[in-house]
Formats: sequence, structure tokens, C-alpha cells
Amino acid sequence: MNLLVSRDVQPENSVVRVGDVAFGDGGFVVMAGPCSVENEEQLMACAEVIADCGGQLLRGGAFKPRTSPYEFQGLGEPGLKLLELARERYGLGIVTEVVTEADVDLVANYADLMQVGARNMQNFALLKALGRCGKPVLLKRGPSATLKEWLMAAEYVLANGNPDVVLCERGIRSFDSHTRNVCDITAVPAMKEMTHLPVILDPSHATGRRSLVAPLARAAVAVGADGLLVECHPNPDAALSDGAQSLDLTQFRQLMMTLPCRILKA
Ligand code: PEP
Ligand code: MN
Repeated sequence: MNLLVSRDVQPENSVVRVGDVAFGDGGFVVMAGPCSVENEEQLMACAEVIADCGGQLLRGGAFKPRTSPYEFQGLGEPGLKLLELARERYGLGIVTEVVTEADVDLVANYADLMQVGARNMQNFALLKALGRCGKPVLLKRGPSATLKEWLMAAEYVLANGNPDVVLCERGIRSFDSHTRNVCDITAVPAMKEMTHLPVILDPSHATGRRSLVAPLARAAVAVGADGLLVECHPNPDAALSDGAQSLDLTQFRQLMMTLPCRILKA
């Protein structure tokens, strides 16, 4: 069967537009921000630095899919309102996660790009609803999903009427617990062979270690990724989620200055 996501059906790259930001046109898009939106001061500190050093989108979670029900679950709608405020102040489009079908309309009122988290990659009811949501979708790879399963998850969104899907590799489960996940860097060019959809890398969740984020970010450029998702925080050691993998704002600035695509463009 010819899938809508397949390069056989559409040989040329899809360009997914999020406001004036384009994925898949040969450029490199950096989306960054805190794992969780925690408060106004934290979010604005991130947004200011991201905008200042050339990041194109602000990403932060208001609804968080946490492994434990006792961990911080996100601020909910007040978090979405803080993201909206940051967009007004800094002109950055907003990327944020929707964890359940019931929240699709609510999140779509605020988000410019709707994130589907790794744990929800095969939540087919959610994928179908996102096919009808009118906003582009960022689809993370499930921690144990094959590339074919990931493609099929994207197919659900396209088949339900939404052609605007960006794929995000975020590491898979394997035997070595040294890193939080194992960064499947191969997945980036392998997916780009099979599909016309843009593919980005999330080196933060892929490694779980802040020291490994910049090297893997450079690898993303080298293998032809269309962009990056990076977690940063003004005070990572005090973060309510994913502090160990979050860059502080100075480290984020350094990363932006040393990405090879930027050096080549300069
Ligand atoms: C996140 O982006 O903060 C997140 C929860 O990621 P993942 O779904 O990849 O685990
Ligand atoms: Mn996170």
C-alpha cells in the first residue's frame, strides 16, 4: 500500500510551516525551553535568551506525561497562558504537548505546534484528533517503537486530514543505562530516506545528560536533521522536571554559537 508519508508517493521534501518558521526547506530550526513551564520568571528568562541567540521556537510543557503520578504534572492551562505571554513578548512560536484527546482543542487554542510525547506515539485516538486540529504536529518516536511503527503513527495524522507533521527522534530503550535512552542517530537519515516529512533530533531526552547534548546536537546537523529540540532552564538543578539533561542558559547560548550550520552560514 502506498502510504501518504512515503517518499514513493511524494519524492520532494514536505515543508512544514509554523508561523514564519519552516521545517524541511533545507534550514535548521532550533526549538528550546524548559521541560515544564514552572512560573513566569523561569519561562521568560528562557524565552529571552532563546530569542536573543537565534532560536526560532519556544518549547515548554504545561501538561506533562510523568512516569510517576506523584511527580509534577505541569501547570495545565495557566502554563499555556504563560507560553502565550512569552510569544507576545518575544515573538517566538509556541510548541507544547497535548497528552490526551480531551485537551486537543484547549491546547490548539494556544500552541503553534502540537507535541505528541513519546509515550503517546501510538495513542491512535489522539493522533486521529490531531489530524483534525488545524495545527501542525510534532510527533516524537516512542521509546520502543520501530521506524515503521513511527511512520504509521504519522500516517494516522495525515490520513485524518493533517499533512503537517514533524518527526522527532528522542532516543530508544536499550540495555545500557549509562544514558537515559540510546540516541538512535541513524533514525534521522533512515527516516528521511523513507518519508518526505521533516525529522528533528531531541538530544536532551535521547541522552538524559547535559554534557552530551551539544555533541549530539552537532551530530544532528551532520546527519541532515531539519532541527533540534533542546531543554534549557535558568537553574537546571532546581528544575521540577528533567534538570539533569537541561542546559543552563549560558550553555544554551554556547551551543547556539557552535552549531556547525551556523558557522557555515556566518
Ligand atoms: C518532553 O518533551 O519533555 C518529554 C516528556 O519527552 P518524551 O515524550 O520524548 O519523553
Ligand atoms: Mn522533558
